[in-house]
Amino acid sequence: MTLTLHTPVTQLSTVGQTTGSRLKKLEIFTAEDLIFYFPFRYEDFSQIDSIESITPNSRVTIRGRIEQLKSRRGWKSKRAITEAIISDKTGSVKALWFNQPYLTKTLEVGTEVYLSGKVGIDKYDLQLVSPLYEKVKRAGDQLHTARLVPIYSTTERLTQKQLRWLIKLALNAASQVVDWLPEETIHRLALPRLADALVQIHFPDSKQQLDQAINRIKFDELFIFMLQSLMLRRELKSADAVAVEFHETKVKAFVDCLPFQLTSDQRRAAWEIIRDIAKPKPMNRLLEGDVGAGKTVVAAMVMLDVAMAGKQAVLMAPTEILAVQHFNTLVKLLANHDVTLGLLTQTNQMIGSDVATKQKVVRVIAAGDIDIVVGTHALLQPEVTFSELVLAIVDEQHRFGVQQRKLLHEKSNHPSTVPHFLSMTATPIPRSLALTLYGDLDISLIREMPNNRRPVITDVVDPADRAQCYQFISEQVAEGRQVFVICPLIDPSDKLGVRSVTEEYEHLTTEVFSDISIGMLHGKLKPAEKQRVMNDFKSGTTSVLVATSVVEVGVDIPNATVMMIESAERFGLAQLHQFRGRVGRGQHQAFCFLLTEKNSQKTKARLEALVEAKDGFALAEKDLELRGPGEVFGSTQSGWPEFRLASLFDQQLVGLARQEAELILDQDPELAAVPQLKNRLQEFRKQVHFE
Ligand code: ADP
Ligand code: MG
Repeated sequence: MTLTLHTPVTQLSTVGQTTGSRLKKLEIFTAEDLIFYFPFRYEDFSQIDSIESITPNSRVTIRGRIEQLKSRRGWKSKRAITEAIISDKTGSVKALWFNQPYLTKTLEVGTEVYLSGKVGIDKYDLQLVSPLYEKVKRAGDQLHTARLVPIYSTTERLTQKQLRWLIKLALNAASQVVDWLPEETIHRLALPRLADALVQIHFPDSKQQLDQAINRIKFDELFIFMLQSLMLRRELKSADAVAVEFHETKVKAFVDCLPFQLTSDQRRAAWEIIRDIAKPKPMNRLLEGDVGAGKTVVAAMVMLDVAMAGKQAVLMAPTEILAVQHFNTLVKLLANHDVTLGLLTQTNQMIGSDVATKQKVVRVIAAGDIDIVVGTHALLQPEVTFSELVLAIVDEQHRFGVQQRKLLHEKSNHPSTVPHFLSMTATPIPRSLALTLYGDLDISLIREMPNNRRPVITDVVDPADRAQCYQFISEQVAEGRQVFVICPLIDPSDKLGVRSVTEEYEHLTTEVFSDISIGMLHGKLKPAEKQRVMNDFKSGTTSVLVATSVVEVGVDIPNATVMMIESAERFGLAQLHQFRGRVGRGQHQAFCFLLTEKNSQKTKARLEALVEAKDGFALAEKDLELRGPGEVFGSTQSGWPEFRLASLFDQQLVGLARQEAELILDQDPELAAVPQLKNRLQEFRKQVHFE
């Protein structure tokens, strides 16, 4: 059989059904999938040590001959112990393995092997305990020892050795992977060939070659992303937009009816937006404002303005919960203003205050009978079209950048014009990053908080004071307040001291707050279930909500006064600040408790920074300086574009990718001379559409 990229893994020699189904769990189906299954780290076993030079507690790799080999049963534990004596020119050393009796069959006296592992000491003798072993092969063929060894994330009962072996096999097809990067680019930037990079990223010949391979693959990811953004940006830039006339009386009446006074930052932001959309050129603006700064009401004002002009506006949120919340807020705010609102998510569809079917909502949006449409990315589905969409607002979703703007544009009945675009966020995005994500844009900033807001009292709680903390929570609940408990994980894991939602929920319901009703919220629940849990908490049916970071963005529960965060060291500061912003939205004093079982000074100091900082922007800027953007914003956090290896915070590579993409588009805007690149771009677009 000849190996191709599409060869199913189950046809690679010796892969049986069971291994096949384990690979499936890792979403590996073909040889190509194996090739693109990159290691997440490497173990450096490239240095070979002479036996006489090894010292206790070091990690070593030795090469030697097996002099003795035997298995026995431990006299207490009864487990199989395999012992070997290995020697090289300089000496000999004992190695032992537990529960691997088959070793006496795979290895034999006289075999030359590499052993990699930690040096222990038994009475007076040095020994290698459970070292990795591999027979000595031709140079370059070692997979598990005597080299930079790749470590993959794997699943139950699929070993590193199996994965390495399979990937090595699949790499025979690496030369079939199309190198779609233009020849010129490869030369100009002195990048390695893709096929070579793919081999080196798994089985690097040296640290330097590994770095080059990683660099190449990161570059590829960023380059295609930048190319796509730049092409769309060029297209959008030359487009026109519908100018929305300012309905001053109506908007002023709205502001006058609000139960509070707008802050001057809110006024200024709204004014900047209203002025922008009154122009026949598409607005591209970012509205930044700390959690609780009041961005929603600004969005409501401008959407009202659009509705008054007889046009449509859309507000898109990253989650069902947020979309529903926004919808309800807007229905209330705009109750007396003669606008029709609609909601469209995977599981919730409303027209005004009536539940409707999805088909109906889709139909009414298309007919132009809904002025303000709220939803999730369900709105990007092909069947959703608008009658006259002139303004698109997205909340806390950094993936909704240039690409989604283009998608929304395609849904409009007026292809000659592009909707105005407003992105809202509580994250202080560095300007360079904002440019990458959204194109050339303007920024409106809400720095000032509504003045009825009292700062949240924040405290790092010592593990010894946990009981006191629970006592305090009971008292708050007795006074009618509500409480969030946040944990980093959904299910228990063997990671020491990291708390999980299911465990804490169990613990709190049965042991700590047996007379308080508690809800549980996490990403594995079905959307309808999540909604029910959220409704119960909103209505006060439950007093405590144990949740993962799903409550991070936007959720508004004014009655909640305590935010308790477990294993707080596992979250970025900006993220912790977001959690804290969930409380202190009503008239009662609010509290944020940070719990950690980590004793390190560094952890404590980091959490203390949160106690000091009141303003999320100042905090994030400081954190950005100290730890770099990847850490601060958490690149795996939802809402950011996802790459396998690259990160948008990798500023130097982003710059390079951008520069190169500009260069190519300047010379050849249609990519006529580089068909392979054009193909790759088409594939990339498909992926983005199906996200
Ligand atoms: P965010 O900017 O985080 O999206 P929201 O728009 O959810 O904040 O607003 C948070 C809360 O503050 C809401 O309950 C909202 O009604 C209230 N709010 C907004 N603006 C003001 C203001 N100027 N004065 C008082 N409360 C306000
Ligand atoms: Mg919000």
